[in-house]
Amino acid sequence: MKDERKGPSSSSKPDPDNLPALGVDLGGTNTKIGLVDHQGQVRQRLRLPTRPEEGPRQVAGRICQAARECLAAAGLGPEQVSGAGIGCPGTIDLEDGIVAFAPNLPGWRDVPLRSLIADELGRPCSLDNDANVAALAEHWVGAGRGASSLVLLTLGTGIGGGIILDGRIWHGATGAAGEIGHMSINPDGPRCQCGNRGCYEVYGSATAMVRRLREAARQGAQTTLSSRLEELTAEDIYKAAVEGDTLALQNLEDTGRYLGVGVSNILHILNPEVIVFSGGPTAAGDMLLQPIREEVRSRTLQACYEGVRICFSRLSDDAGVIGAARRFMVTARG
Ligand SMILES: [Zn+2]
Repeated sequence: MKDERKGPSSSSKPDPDNLPALGVDLGGTNTKIGLVDHQGQVRQRLRLPTRPEEGPRQVAGRICQAARECLAAAGLGPEQVSGAGIGCPGTIDLEDGIVAFAPNLPGWRDVPLRSLIADELGRPCSLDNDANVAALAEHWVGAGRGASSLVLLTLGTGIGGGIILDGRIWHGATGAAGEIGHMSINPDGPRCQCGNRGCYEVYGSATAMVRRLREAARQGAQTTLSSRLEELTAEDIYKAAVEGDTLALQNLEDTGRYLGVGVSNILHILNPEVIVFSGGPTAAGDMLLQPIREEVRSRTLQACYEGVRICFSRLSDDAGVIGAARRFMVTARG
């Protein structure tokens, strides 16, 4: 029979270490909330538009409201979760739980997001960068399960990075480690959002794939995608490639090569056991994975390459939520 505890008056209190935690994956467009147990299973999930332009206080209020709805749907009250982990894009001040700067959340600067949510929800919270927590999820219950070191690369508007060393997120000296998308791979390459030139993400992100295909088509290359260049997505490119479109196939091949160059650099520096890619372009499967692997093999020192596993995410859309909750569980354990 199910134990129906009604509240704090219950004589047999549940062990707080075994309570599930909430994971909040705050994105520039949508925010995902999930109730995550200690096996890494998402028991309840909910999605809401972020609307960052309304300001942090409003957004935090709506997130807490949605979190309570998520708990209610699972038949739980706020006191029946240990707390909430929040994953957020941008630069995070880990000590004070502050979103220092987030290009995808316009106007958000020095936002005390951890305390805004903790105060409103009445539960303790943790805050970390979204790619860092996604890497933690892949390490915990995803593609890197059982490995001691892992690097996650998320392919989207840019390339996000998360580094796990000896089972823990590597934050670096100032909490800014893992900005892998801004590693230079061509000193004279196209300008990046960050102001530098030739960053990894101007070559390997979903945005970059689309940009390169558009440029080639406008210069006269034949493609079945020429009628919809304006609204083109990485998914369109993959679908066209499946149907044999030469330009789309070439695009995936080139993207794989560029991504492979960056992975090779990472292997030379960190020699991790697993490299995991996530994001829309991974839908292309082997058409993208093969050229990545070939490029990595051709340009990496044997000792740094040996035994590395290069693969795609198994958690896809849930990684942010699972990782945020896991980050809280690890923090709460101390
Ligand atoms: Zn850059």
